[in-house]
Amino acid sequence: MRLGIYPGTFDPITNGHIDIIERSILLFDKVIVAVTTNPAKSPLFDIDERIEMIESSVKMMRNVEVDSFDDLLVNYALKKQATAIIRGLRATSDFEFEFQMALVNRKLSNKLVTVFLMPNEKYTYLNSTIVKEVASFHGDVGRFVPSEINKKLIEKFKHN
Ligand code: ADP
Repeated sequence: MRLGIYPGTFDPITNGHIDIIERSILLFDKVIVAVTTNPAKSPLFDIDERIEMIESSVKMMRNVEVDSFDDLLVNYALKKQATAIIRGLRATSDFEFEFQMALVNRKLSNKLVTVFLMPNEKYTYLNSTIVKEVASFHGDVGRFVPSEINKKLIEKFKHN
């Protein structure tokens, strides 16, 4: 079975992430969206909220599971017997960091391949940080995230 692990912070999941998940299920028998619990990132949404938001966004997709991990990504992926790590590449600005991470992960385990997928160009400018920034000022992010996520963001920032 070809298992892909799509790791990230997903704070919150956006239409860009969903585009990558939709592409990855064409390549793998199963995809695990793996949410990092790393508190160093000081996420807006706690781990349970992020998982719940991803679950609501992928419920129509068979073969997609949501999980969390606090381990080294490579160790987590090996434990799951994954075939590959999936990452999204938006622009050249992503490249340097992703290149470094992929090569370090390859040094840590040559059993794992990192696969980069490019989203539809309409999502290349999108990330969770900009979505939170706009939502915090009550801007409309309805085109950037699924409607359930939009509701959560409105709720989160209603007292701002
Ligand atoms: P991280 O904190 O690991 O960057 P993110 O949740 O921001 O976690 O992103 C997880 C993965 O999804 C990364 O590979 C990132 O490049 C990719 N990604 C994020 N936003 C988009 C987008 N709009 N289009 C394509 N890939 C994206």
